[in-house]
Amino acid sequence: MEKKIGVYICTDCEIGSSLDIDKLTKVAIKQKASVVKTHPSLCQKEGVEFIKRDMAQEGVNAVIIAACSSRVNYDVFNLGIPLVERVNLREGVVWTHTPNDEDTQMMAEDYIRMGILKMQKMEAPEPYKVENLSKNVLVVGGGLAGITAANEAAKAGYDVFLIEKNDSLGGWMTKIYKQAPTKPPYTDMEEPFINNLIKEIQQNPKIKIYTSSLIEKIEGSPGIYDVTVKQNGNLETFRAGAIVEAAGTVPYDATKIIHLGFGKYPNVVTNYMMEDMTLKGTIVRPSDGKPVKSVAFIQCAGQRDENHLPYCSATCCVESLKQAKYIRLQDPDSKAYIFYRDMRTPGHYEYFYKSMQNDAGVFLTKGDVIGITEDENKNLAIEVENTLLGEKIRVNADLVVLATGMVPVTALGEEILPPGVKPGDEFIPYVMIETDILNLVYRQGGEVPVLVNGYPDSNFICFPYETRRTGIYAAGSVRAPMDISSTIIDATGAALKAIQCIELTARGEALHPRVGDISYVDIFMQKCTQCKRCTEECPFGAINEDEKANPLYNPTRCRRCAICMGACPERIMSFKNYSVDMIGNMVKNIEVPEEEEEKPRAIVFVCENDAYPALDMAGLHRLSYNPFIRVVPLRCIGSMNLVWVADALSKGIDGILLLGCQYGEDYQCHMATGSHLAKIRLSKVAETLDRLKLESGRVQMTQVSISEYHKIPQILDEFMEKLKGFGPNPYKGF
Ligand code: SF4
Ligand code: SF4
Repeated sequence: MEKKIGVYICTDCEIGSSLDIDKLTKVAIKQKASVVKTHPSLCQKEGVEFIKRDMAQEGVNAVIIAACSSRVNYDVFNLGIPLVERVNLREGVVWTHTPNDEDTQMMAEDYIRMGILKMQKMEAPEPYKVENLSKNVLVVGGGLAGITAANEAAKAGYDVFLIEKNDSLGGWMTKIYKQAPTKPPYTDMEEPFINNLIKEIQQNPKIKIYTSSLIEKIEGSPGIYDVTVKQNGNLETFRAGAIVEAAGTVPYDATKIIHLGFGKYPNVVTNYMMEDMTLKGTIVRPSDGKPVKSVAFIQCAGQRDENHLPYCSATCCVESLKQAKYIRLQDPDSKAYIFYRDMRTPGHYEYFYKSMQNDAGVFLTKGDVIGITEDENKNLAIEVENTLLGEKIRVNADLVVLATGMVPVTALGEEILPPGVKPGDEFIPYVMIETDILNLVYRQGGEVPVLVNGYPDSNFICFPYETRRTGIYAAGSVRAPMDISSTIIDATGAALKAIQCIELTARGEALHPRVGDISYVDIFMQKCTQCKRCTEECPFGAINEDEKANPLYNPTRCRRCAICMGACPERIMSFKNYSVDMIGNMVKNIEVPEEEEEKPRAIVFVCENDAYPALDMAGLHRLSYNPFIRVVPLRCIGSMNLVWVADALSKGIDGILLLGCQYGEDYQCHMATGSHLAKIRLSKVAETLDRLKLESGRVQMTQVSISEYHKIPQILDEFMEKLKGFGPNPYKGF
């Protein structure tokens, strides 16, 4: 179908009063737009009808709206056609630059030109639809998180397969005597509700439960996962659309905490053993079976300790308060001592903490336990320093309970780095711990990549449940240490994410952060050199490999970040509406004034996820910045291909700045590794600059988050100031 491009320029929101609209119209006509029109307020009903009329009567089938940012009014400008492009004249030009100024006008003209060029290179994407898509949810793990996820998915109408490796459901929740308060007044222990929940899902025909079962392998991708389960030696295969990984945790090995005496003194037990003892009847000294009169609880037994578990396990403080109550209820004359580093009882647990503080038989103090000794009768003495009393104290107790922490099962295996990568390398594309939980048939390994301490990697702020495997959502304590209430919320969230994945996949749409995007990667295989860059660098493991190292792309695993497009040295990976050629063409057509005009030009490639919204926010706050920059939004800054840098510099552009998300261990990149990869690629740009005999400072990268919009003017102005120091690019005019 031949493209008929219509350009619609809005004159509202100060656009008409700040720019020469006639000149803009002429630029659009010169750039070969078929229809160019202005309207006093495009986002109003009449404005949209105005465009739709042209679509119906003039056959306009590719619409460019030159008005506000693409991040606003996207629903208003949903015209029911795939080819709609927005040119940001409002936030990006008139709200950030001097009205009726030559430089502001030139900026707007460049953006109109770039918008039309982009549209000319664009093809209408069509959704990728998989055949035999399954809407079933696979839940791995039958503890509280897994049961909740299964129950919630089933309540929402989805069939669920629930896999549990043990012979019964419930996990840790079936091993506790009472649970900490979850209901007002939050001061009373409660009967564990897990058995009711187990009954509920066992009676639900939408949930098929496999106990004593393990996942043999999972092949495929979202919508079409073929799952093979092994139960009692028999293999069974079924199809699922998305996966909730709720495999839980194991207690930390207390024998490793040598100075606290576990394994050496029989009357030193862990919090897990304490539950077990209470559940079985009476709390006694393991050494002689006598009921206890005094118990010392030692908090952070290994947690928040670089030599053991560097993190807080989130539940142990409340659990020790609860177990102190067990003792006090068993024997009103007994004493409980709790030694903590910080008593962490967030939210409503504070009421429970207060109620325990009011119990005269419970002694709580901050302090560091420096040692435990045992006398000939197996009585224990605990020595504590740095207490609230300001002096060392020694407390005798019949029993010591170590509040040990939890380790995610995803951490229990050998760490595997990608081939050729060593620990400590500046950039590690992914870290995998081979644990035998999911056994995915993925080129990058069989489990979900982990971040630190063996927890599945995900974007902490924006998409907490999402792992780096599209369609696989971590829930409960395998994702982060959490208590009962948080686990229920977490598992419900993960179930909803799994459902969202299934429904978006069924429509051929991308998941977060490009929800609704129907484009996907096209690889021109004839030119592929089997270099493996794409299969190694895809943050989501979307590309498998055949035995000859040909990339095997899985569209429903793909997040459409285009990082592979930035990586591919042959430039053969593209999307119908986003390609190396398209961006390159936009870059090459920015007008570069002659040197004597003293109007430098810089391109700022901005990540669409954080940096571009930050620029818009700067616009909303009317913060003004240098008019000589030209913003080019990228799906992820990791999709930057070095050829754009070479193209821009050889055309006379004075400098290039990349604005991406924070990278490194605390990364904020929405595509996990995109901004870090861009940084690595940029370090290789020196070669190009050397070849062109240009200063390396002309190309730089800065990290910025959406909340740092107020820094935008300073970042851009300082960059332009630096470029001034280098003088004009000598390639101007070539
Ligand atoms: S677009 Fe992103 S997620 Fe998709 S294959 Fe390329 S690198 Fe992987
Ligand atoms: S990066 Fe490009 S050339 Fe290399 S394997 Fe992938 S598609 Fe082929």
